Amino acid sequence: VKFVYDFTEGNKDLKDLLGGKGANLAEMTNLGLPVPPGFTITTEACKVYLESGTEPAALRAEVSEHLNALEQQMGKKLGQADDPLLVSVRSGAKFSMPGMMDTVLNIGLSDASVSGLAAQAGDERFAWDSYRRLIQMFGKTVLGVDGELFEEALEEAKRDKGVTVDVDLDAADLRALVEQFKQIVAKETGRDFPQDAREQMDLAIRAVFDSWNTDRAKLYRRQERIPGDLGTAVNVCSMVFGNLGPDSGTGVAFTRDPASGQQGVYGDYLQNAQGEDVVAGIRNTVPLADLENIDKASYDELMQIMETLETHYKDLCDIEFTIERGKLWMLQTRVGKRTAGAAFRIATQLVDQGLIDEAEALQRVTGAQLAQLMFPRFDLSAKSDLLGRGIAASPGAAVGKAVFDSYTAVKWSRSGEKVILIRRETNPDDLNGMIAAEGILTSRGGKTSHAAVVARGMGKTCVCGAEELEVDTKSRRMTTQDGTVVEEGDVVSIDGSTGKVYAGEVPVVPSPVVEYFEGRMHAGAEDADELVKAVHRIMAYADRVRRLRVRANADNAEDAARARRFGAQGIGLCRTEHMFLGERREMVERLILADTDADREAALTELLPLQKTDFIELFEAMDGLPVTVRLLDPPLHEFLPDITELSVRVALAEARKDANENDLRLLQAVHKLHEQNPMLGLRGVRLGLVIPGLFAMQVRAIAEAAAERKNAKGDPRAEIMIPLVGTVQELEIVREEAEQVIAEVEKRYGVSLKLTLGTMIELPRAALTAGQIAESADFFSFGTNDLTQTVWGFSRDDVEASFFTAYLEKGIFGVSPFETIDKDGVGSLVRNAAAAGRATRPDLKLGVCGEHGGDPESVHFFHEVGLDYVSCSPFRIPVARLEAGRAAA
Ligand code: PEP
Ligand code: MG
Repeated sequence: VKFVYDFTEGNKDLKDLLGGKGANLAEMTNLGLPVPPGFTITTEACKVYLESGTEPAALRAEVSEHLNALEQQMGKKLGQADDPLLVSVRSGAKFSMPGMMDTVLNIGLSDASVSGLAAQAGDERFAWDSYRRLIQMFGKTVLGVDGELFEEALEEAKRDKGVTVDVDLDAADLRALVEQFKQIVAKETGRDFPQDAREQMDLAIRAVFDSWNTDRAKLYRRQERIPGDLGTAVNVCSMVFGNLGPDSGTGVAFTRDPASGQQGVYGDYLQNAQGEDVVAGIRNTVPLADLENIDKASYDELMQIMETLETHYKDLCDIEFTIERGKLWMLQTRVGKRTAGAAFRIATQLVDQGLIDEAEALQRVTGAQLAQLMFPRFDLSAKSDLLGRGIAASPGAAVGKAVFDSYTAVKWSRSGEKVILIRRETNPDDLNGMIAAEGILTSRGGKTSHAAVVARGMGKTCVCGAEELEVDTKSRRMTTQDGTVVEEGDVVSIDGSTGKVYAGEVPVVPSPVVEYFEGRMHAGAEDADELVKAVHRIMAYADRVRRLRVRANADNAEDAARARRFGAQGIGLCRTEHMFLGERREMVERLILADTDADREAALTELLPLQKTDFIELFEAMDGLPVTVRLLDPPLHEFLPDITELSVRVALAEARKDANENDLRLLQAVHKLHEQNPMLGLRGVRLGLVIPGLFAMQVRAIAEAAAERKNAKGDPRAEIMIPLVGTVQELEIVREEAEQVIAEVEKRYGVSLKLTLGTMIELPRAALTAGQIAESADFFSFGTNDLTQTVWGFSRDDVEASFFTAYLEKGIFGVSPFETIDKDGVGSLVRNAAAAGRATRPDLKLGVCGEHGGDPESVHFFHEVGLDYVSCSPFRIPVARLEAGRAAA
């Protein structure tokens, strides 16, 4: 194998091997752009090193060969005393990990070559400053010396001289500093700073390999879901200098605005400086447009290059460049990060420019970006007072009074206050407070901290790890860096999409994208916002190509109507238990308590007309589209009073000797129905088989509602779905009864209803015997919530708040299997069951109605295994439409 590639040998598609930076440097080199010559050591070499602890045997010779070629091209040797070639050694992994790994500049400088550099550059100060930087960077990153020691020495030198900025130190000062730095290295490491240039280079390469596995890098990868075994490439690049005087400088640029997508000149430039000075914010940069006045030739060339890059990459690029004495050099480029809104706008702009087609445009945006655009946001034109910022952990805009403990959060929210729960970090004890709060703010922890994970799970706004905010829960206050104090009860606003925290109430405006989906804003309107126009177009592309249909999980006419506005093509799951809440709960209670057939029938007769009205409304809202109604699913005790509360009430009453008959019966029933594992108990189809008349009543309500809609010239398309089936026998019994009821209703109303009857596949046994079950089912709908619960043996109601944080932190999975389908486990059951079902019944309709139906990654999976539709909550419908389009494009 080949471990080293010259920049002329690679290209942009070799990111796995050369890392992002190396691949793009090669691409630019081959485009004929001015890239300082160099070579890239592959990620393969890094992997060998990380696995075996030593560099691959062939590496040294290969590096020598490429170094020789480089020296020949540059006409000087690495570290050559009278005219040294200097190189930078930079990490560059496949995925960008900003600031996570190491870089060493100015390799090749030594006591001997520093004067050669001075003579060549005609600048004594520059040479000593470069040497000083090398020892500092090398000492810290390669030799592991505490960076503070160098910083302190530098500060002291400035203090002694009575100056405040580095540039006021002259050559002699820097020379003295170099001496001091060398002493620090010797004292801290027990060895001298290496004077041999090749040794410097080899050690730096090894340090870059090692930096792949620092705690910081590991944590970042886990948070960003970057696999841990990719390794990093190493780029060795000849140095060019932006700090050789006013005709030199360095800058960053974007080929278009990463916030809006607008074309124009975006970037910053810093005269007489090296790259790290820009990042460190030591001096103020000027807008890139000013470069035109400073150095017109370089400016024009840069504009030309940016155009070349955009047309070549067919996307927004970001760039780092340096000008050395009037000569422009490109140091880096990559397809640039952008905001969610810009992603949509840029994709359509590129289509208009003829650079990409519609299918490609769909790949340039994501459902997650669309979801982000659908949250209400703070009105940024309003005056706001920034307190600090943390990690954008769960999007949204939340406003409320600051509270510092869960108890207060719950208490205040019960009395109608909106609160923001502020903690240093959260733990499972904070759960109630988190539920009660509008949003959560923590000063510690990253994207996988408890607060972040739980908040995302609840769809609650969260900013975490705002380290600049000091949270003091004891005295119930938070202090900002500039000393501003937020007391309990003060109003704060947190932005979970940007991580920003504001004092007071920042006004919230609805998302224009939601206004558009709701039909309150039209993409064709004269004054329509650019973003809305772009979203409209992208959605149209997605709808045109997607094969998956998208339905909604909705149980009432209002949600159904919204779902329809959002583009739903039917209802995939109407959970009828949601129709038995409120005052109807007592009717169910009477049903459960019924001792005699007469009592039971009376209760059912009472429920029937109510159910029927619900269905009529639903079928009307979804006229012409399929509506899957699921018969009652949850364990019955959910409709009864809480066992503890009731026991206490009865006990107290008995003590007073006035226990009432009804309560005693109720308590008996509650005891009888109490289960240790209700989710594995008397629920779903089991209820229908155990409680005579229950399912028949529901089927009758559906059939009569459909018949009445028909008679009213409507077009009802009801589908009846049986939950929690484990074996075809269960289904057969229910089916027989249902068919009788339907036939009877059809006869009575004189209509043909064409009702279909299917089942959920949400138990492993159902999935494993899907071929048999399909004999009795017109359709399958995968209930991936229960299927995940039963396949993993995880309680879906408890697990997110108990041990999932630990699982995520340990990297056991990157994301909860309740959020994104576990392809290998649960997914493989879905795939096989779909195939087995279709083998029995080729026209079997297949859908999914678990939460995964609205999850981007899962939607791609369901497309791939050939389902007909996904069903999700109304707000996620646009996301599902988009992802279904992306999957098919
Ligand atoms: C499921 O289990 O995936 C499902 C959709 O049903 P529920 O969430 O109501 O149990
Ligand atoms: Mg279920």
